[in-house]
Amino acid sequence: MQALYFAGQRKLEWRDVPMPTIQGDGQAVVRPIASTTCDLDHRIIAGLSPFEPPFALGHEAVAEVVDVGSGVRSIRPGDLVVVPWHICCGECANCRAGLSGHCQSVRPVSAYGVPVGGHWGGLFSDSVLVPYANAMLVKLPRGIDPVAAASVSDNLTDAYINVRKGMERHPGARVLVIGGTGCLGPFAVDNALAAGAEAVDYVDKDETRRNVARSLGATVYEAMLPEFQSSYHVVVSGTRDKDDLRAAFLALKPGGHLSGMAIYFRDTEVPLWDMFLRDITFSTGLPSVRSHIPDVLSLVESGKLRPRQVVSSIVEWNDAALALLEPSLKPVVVRARAFVEA
Ligand SMILES: [Zn+2]
Ligand SMILES: [Zn+2]
Repeated sequence: MQALYFAGQRKLEWRDVPMPTIQGDGQAVVRPIASTTCDLDHRIIAGLSPFEPPFALGHEAVAEVVDVGSGVRSIRPGDLVVVPWHICCGECANCRAGLSGHCQSVRPVSAYGVPVGGHWGGLFSDSVLVPYANAMLVKLPRGIDPVAAASVSDNLTDAYINVRKGMERHPGARVLVIGGTGCLGPFAVDNALAAGAEAVDYVDKDETRRNVARSLGATVYEAMLPEFQSSYHVVVSGTRDKDDLRAAFLALKPGGHLSGMAIYFRDTEVPLWDMFLRDITFSTGLPSVRSHIPDVLSLVESGKLRPRQVVSSIVEWNDAALALLEPSLKPVVVRARAFVEA
């Protein structure tokens, strides 16, 4: 079978690799049919991540189930499922505590599409093995477009988690979202409005992302303004710019919450004195998406979340190696289902 590999800076290639096979009762093999890039993938492809090539790329997809082990009860061949970005057993202490991104049954950061906790394959592949199918896979409700749901695996649910962390403490708040990494900013706008934000202000240097954020209902700005200072109880940041990060902290009102969605590969200075004076909370972390996926799918099903508006292009499966080199906010790579719907 073929798998799309990151082979070096701006180098993607299809490679022939062995087809995964079921080796345990609880496993499944799935075939991605709508796969998309995580914001991190754009950095990987650009050669701006610490991850050494070669490895199979991709960790956001809706897939169809091809084969299941005898102990798999939740799904059967032909079902469409959301595949979470991380591997999780569903039974260890961390999984039971909702920290499925830190599953203790596998190496730390065991995930599709990144080579940190071993090689689990990528979701731009003909098929991948799902080692804990009952715990990991979530059936896609009928009627949800796989293209719209492709990012539930990671970025859309990541934005959901980060928005909720602030809004649970400050219901109905006016929310400031700072974009920068890619689709996470627009997804945070959508999630904040779905969670009942009074309004959302969105800051981003990138015009395309500003336009998407505006179409979702945000008031948009090209840069942080002085009047943002001490104005928000909830700020959600997807920026890796250290000045904007500092301004994000200063934008908090006393008691406010800043959720950091962007990945910093290096230690980064934060304004601890201003944070202290405001009595703020800062959260950041790799998103333990699994337990939130059903909630996010419900929001998509009800139309409260509109991820299809963030999708920038639909790409034929065989064109992925070239198409993913193009600058595109959220390209979704698709192919026909192998199973005909009953
Ligand atoms: Zn990701
Ligand atoms: Zn676990």
